[in-house]
Amino acid sequence: MGALRTDFHPTMRKPIIAANWKMHKTPPETEDFLRDFLVLAQSGESVDIVIAPPFISLSAALAMITNRDHVRVSAQNMHFEPSGAYTGEISPLMLRTMHVSYVILGHSERRSIFGETDALINKKVLAAHHYHLKPILCVGETLEERDAGKLEEVLTTQLTGSLASVTADQMVGTVIAYEPVWAIGTGRTATAAQAQEAHALVRRIITGLYDPETARRVRIQYGGSVKPGNMGELMAQPDVDGALVGGASLESGSFWEIVRAAAEANTVKLSAPILPAGN
Ligand code: PEP
Repeated sequence: MGALRTDFHPTMRKPIIAANWKMHKTPPETEDFLRDFLVLAQSGESVDIVIAPPFISLSAALAMITNRDHVRVSAQNMHFEPSGAYTGEISPLMLRTMHVSYVILGHSERRSIFGETDALINKKVLAAHHYHLKPILCVGETLEERDAGKLEEVLTTQLTGSLASVTADQMVGTVIAYEPVWAIGTGRTATAAQAQEAHALVRRIITGLYDPETARRVRIQYGGSVKPGNMGELMAQPDVDGALVGGASLESGSFWEIVRAAAEANTVKLSAPILPAGN
């Protein structure tokens, strides 16, 4: 086995694979999934696994995964206030009281369908940290923005706005999900090279907002039509630290194959030899 690479520090970034179930799975369906999945996932400790069911199924998921540190539960959204007259909303305090660990914030469906802005998402990111929930902050460009050469501009605007007043310590506890909008639910995955380019850009932007050490420690997931067949190649990229998975996370076998592919690719990545400068 070669010496560990020093041009990045993958050992500091444990892979994180999250299942975003969106508006799918009732409590009994959640139990069915986890009954199968938890048998498969008994040996998945090298990867953090996160399950994000709809609010109504959080309790069922939490009851099934007690005492399994490598499998955690996430909400898919929340309000930023702890309580109040916000009909239909769920608060960070409520999620924390239930022992939810993560919350997905700023998903492109929240941005495009429900009109969430970076300013609103920022309030939610700050509230999540205040209540000790780990945010999974989603960013990503539309196809029009990519074709117009605006990738860097869009990511810079989204990250700067959503992370305002977030401290460096909180930043390290924030997971970024880079999700090109054109790849979500379309079957069209970004190539590994496109994903690496965007992830490196996200890390550069975080370096500018914080410092190189903070940026090196932040985990950046790729999201957009991830499947068992493409996870390995994506995960092999130096700045890809996992995935946020929609459609392919709804079936326990396929989600487990994605977790396994990520774990295997990460093992190879960790043993990669140090490359001479310039290679
Ligand atoms: C998502 O909803 O975050 C997502 C990436 O969906 P899919 O995997 O289905 O493209």
